[in-house]
Amino acid sequence: MAKADNIIDLDDVRFAYPAQQDLTLNIKHLSLAAGERVFLYGPSGSGKSTLLSVIAAILKPDAGSVQVNGTDVHALNGAASDQFRADNIGLVFQQFNLLPFMSVVDNVTLPCRFSSTRRDAVLSSASTLRAEAERLLTAMQLPEALFKSRKSIQLSVGQQQRVAVARALIGQPPLLIADEPTSSLDTQARVAFLELLFAELDRSQSGLLFVSHDESLKSLFDRSISLAEINHATA
Ligand code: ADP
Ligand code: MG
Repeated sequence: MAKADNIIDLDDVRFAYPAQQDLTLNIKHLSLAAGERVFLYGPSGSGKSTLLSVIAAILKPDAGSVQVNGTDVHALNGAASDQFRADNIGLVFQQFNLLPFMSVVDNVTLPCRFSSTRRDAVLSSASTLRAEAERLLTAMQLPEALFKSRKSIQLSVGQQQRVAVARALIGQPPLLIADEPTSSLDTQARVAFLELLFAELDRSQSGLLFVSHDESLKSLFDRSISLAEINHATA
């Protein structure tokens, strides 16, 4: 697949939740260059999670276009949309959404079951999916004793977060989207965690759209965007 110059190009997007008159999103333009690390901030309720869902084609906008890696994600049908997301986007949700009774390593390799693109990317440099999952978990400083023996339900929130980020990174998708993944950490721990994530992004060259309300993290990123400045919501 040819690589687009921008990993995200969003134009004239309007979005209202069903049965609501008011627009939660009304954004003229937003783009991210390939490999760029962008910090998106705004108060609770300002539409950050809604915007990420529109970019990931989980929610369909009422108007406008969203291109990810050069593809109009809302022009794809359900199955093609799911496949495109699995191939191109590593998602870190606020609540992590790990499969609780699956092992830590199986949680991390999960995207490779849905995406042969990501599986092939892993196997071009690692001997097995497990080996790459263990490398990523180690890079995220999860102690080996934990990922060898535990199911995800037996991990602390901070540990689950490391697993969720390893899962998003596996197979080097061109875009990572993270929705306040550090909200349970104090600022010092957030910075340390971001440094681990950035070291992996140096390897994978993935772009990152990172959402938080903690503006002290801004300076670590290539660029920061205030959602209030670009979003002319009426809600
Ligand atoms: P943020 O992530 O910035 O806290 P959200 O995108 O979650 O903000 O929410 C933006 C607005 O949309 C809020 O007013 C919220 O109440 C509303 N909202 C979020 N999810 C839904 C939903 N499923 N149905 C209706 N309104 C929603
Ligand atoms: Mg949110």
